[in-house]
Amino acid sequence: MKEAVGVHWFRHGLRLHDNPALCQLLETCNKVYLIFIFDGESGGMRLSGYNRLAFLLESLTDLDRQLRLRGGRLLTIRGKPTDALQLMRTEYGMTHLSFEQDCEPVWAPRDELVRAWCDEHAVEIIERISHTLWDPAEVIEANGGEPPLTFSMFHQVAMSIGLPPTPEGDPVFRAGQLAVADPTRPHGHPVQLFDEVPPVSELSDLKPSPGEHKKRYQGGETRGLQLLAERVAWEELALSRGIVMPNQYCPDLLGPPRSMSAYLRHGCISVRRMYHQIQKAFQACTDAQGHSLSICVQLVWREYFYTMSVKNPYYDQMEPNPICLNINWRTDDQQLQQWKEGQTGYPFIDAAMRQLIQEGWIHHVARNATSCFLTRGDLWLNWVDGLRVFQEYLLDADWSVNAGNWMWVSSSAFENFLDTSDTISPVNYGRMFEPTGEYIRRYVPELRQMPTEYIFSPWEAPLSVQREAGCIIGKDYPCRMVNHEVVSRHNRKLMSKIAEQLGTCPPHCMPAGDAEVKHFFGLPGASLEDMLGGH
Ligand code: FAD
Ligand code: MG
Repeated sequence: MKEAVGVHWFRHGLRLHDNPALCQLLETCNKVYLIFIFDGESGGMRLSGYNRLAFLLESLTDLDRQLRLRGGRLLTIRGKPTDALQLMRTEYGMTHLSFEQDCEPVWAPRDELVRAWCDEHAVEIIERISHTLWDPAEVIEANGGEPPLTFSMFHQVAMSIGLPPTPEGDPVFRAGQLAVADPTRPHGHPVQLFDEVPPVSELSDLKPSPGEHKKRYQGGETRGLQLLAERVAWEELALSRGIVMPNQYCPDLLGPPRSMSAYLRHGCISVRRMYHQIQKAFQACTDAQGHSLSICVQLVWREYFYTMSVKNPYYDQMEPNPICLNINWRTDDQQLQQWKEGQTGYPFIDAAMRQLIQEGWIHHVARNATSCFLTRGDLWLNWVDGLRVFQEYLLDADWSVNAGNWMWVSSSAFENFLDTSDTISPVNYGRMFEPTGEYIRRYVPELRQMPTEYIFSPWEAPLSVQREAGCIIGKDYPCRMVNHEVVSRHNRKLMSKIAEQLGTCPPHCMPAGDAEVKHFFGLPGASLEDMLGGH
């Protein structure tokens, strides 16, 4: 009988825990190789800046380290997936290929080619869903063949399917099962094999962002699991005090790194593990018997944006995208650049953009403020340009989650409810979440000495105060590039006109109601019950 030789192909899902495809492969094959292919696309490399590429490589290094402890290693290969697989078949006898499902349509061409290649070469595929809580295809089917258009509809449909599956047990490697390929062996295939995970400099010309050393998130499953344990303990403490979703309701812009988003995006931690651990904490704190989807509602947003994109390859664009309204955004490269570089003259916006470039991560409220400012709030520039900047710099940049949020905030998935230009003012919104001004002082050092009274709107400071603070507005720090009161009034009129023109427009993705909008923006007056209709 032919020996069963398996190859597990990491793309997302950069972890050993809760990895059903890998577990199935280990049950099926006597010998198993684990690989990552640098094809310029997988792992989100195409639009990646330095920080995210470094995060990816840290995650691969962590996997390699864990595998070496078990007698194996991670083989990293540069080239086309089918060429890399051809090498694994001819040189190492691959009979089975396993991978985690990537549900976003941007990955479909890659996976279709690989499926056809496997068919042709009688290689059996083991593909499992573990990047999402539910199977997006099942949600779409349960909704009658189309993705649910509002978050609350999505929530209802998901609830009707049932609770997310519990995570898979840890993989069991039998003695000698992990095989080690020899990257130095001559092979005659059009791919390059690395003898260890390469550094950024070997894969691209990207240079570290200034301040990159301040980066607070280190890639990898090991670090992700540590952070998850801390995160769950924090949620548990909050729950015991009657607070759900502390990250959303008590946003801490200055505190320790507590975000799981980059780890979820690369699959260094399993979303199902996070979901079930938070549910367990909830049950322990409240004596509740069942699950409460609402305490993990942010994870459901993630599912919503993934599922919405599954059948829509134009999800990250405006014109060809059927769920995105075509809005006559302006084009202004200089303004776009000022926004990107944190030189708008609005300190909260500038702090957020500079943190994004330096650290690759900003809090949800900072994302709301900066994306609203660029689009319908102030500058009236196209959300797609903003998306590209986020895509390059965010450690957690996800093709669909990023686009879904940009469409939502910019009213491109339009609805009257989104008329919040006043409440998400570039001055007051930031002050509401971090009134001390420390966040601005950390990222906009020019304003370090500015009194708190003026730090959110330094153009209002009398010249004597500016002099004393060592920061003259217009010289040491820019004048505000637009007057928010004036432009936001104008933009609201434009939005109302669009709404009138739309009349009874075709079904499109939109917020379900006022409560959902308030909840999304973290504004007071939105209860989860209002938003979810009692679920
Ligand atoms: P928590 O509040 O702790 O939430 C837990 C997890 O739920 C997150 O890690 C994330 O995986 C998911 N989540 C939370 N909020 C959302 C949301 N609004 N939409 C979808 N998933 C959510 N998040 C990304 O993961 N990738 C992106 O590319 C991305 N782009 C964004 C672009 C814009 C314009 C905006 C406004 C938001 C974007 N978000 C994105 C959503 C959100 O801001 C981040 O997920 C969140 O700030 C991550 O911090 P956290 O892990 O502490 O979140
Ligand atoms: Mg998190």
